[in-house]
Amino acid sequence: MKTPHLPEYGHRLCPHCERDFSLYPANPTFGESLCGDVVLYVMCSGCHEQFQMADDDQRKLMSDKCFVSAKLHQHDSNGNRVLWAVTTNLTLFLNGDDLVCAIENGAGLTKQHYVSILSGECDIIQFSSAGIRSVVKGQVHRGGL
Ligand SMILES: [Zn+2]
Repeated sequence: MKTPHLPEYGHRLCPHCERDFSLYPANPTFGESLCGDVVLYVMCSGCHEQFQMADDDQRKLMSDKCFVSAKLHQHDSNGNRVLWAVTTNLTLFLNGDDLVCAIENGAGLTKQHYVSILSGECDIIQFSSAGIRSVVKGQVHRGGL
């Protein structure tokens, strides 16, 4: 099935310049604390480098542009979801710290589980040998399994 509006696997749109780029060599450019999680914005290499060299005022302008892209322009004129290079710390953790998998796969949680993990009502346990994770009620001491 042809999906011309979707970037190929491992690619997303830079929330700053809006160009398609490969996530493979990328790292998060900056984070935004939000509701107990940190939203990670990933820029293309050119914008990432520009952000690293920028002063505080320039960084604020660049991050504001990313906020507008990711929060206000979530759909294109045809109603298709725009795939920005954005994820969260929790999603990154759930994907074994693999940024491409985190952005491609998402958290794989219901909104209720996601919120309950961030609030501390639930936690995630991992069965390390199988790579299987489960959401459980209450907090778990990590590493004890
Ligand atoms: Zn860019």
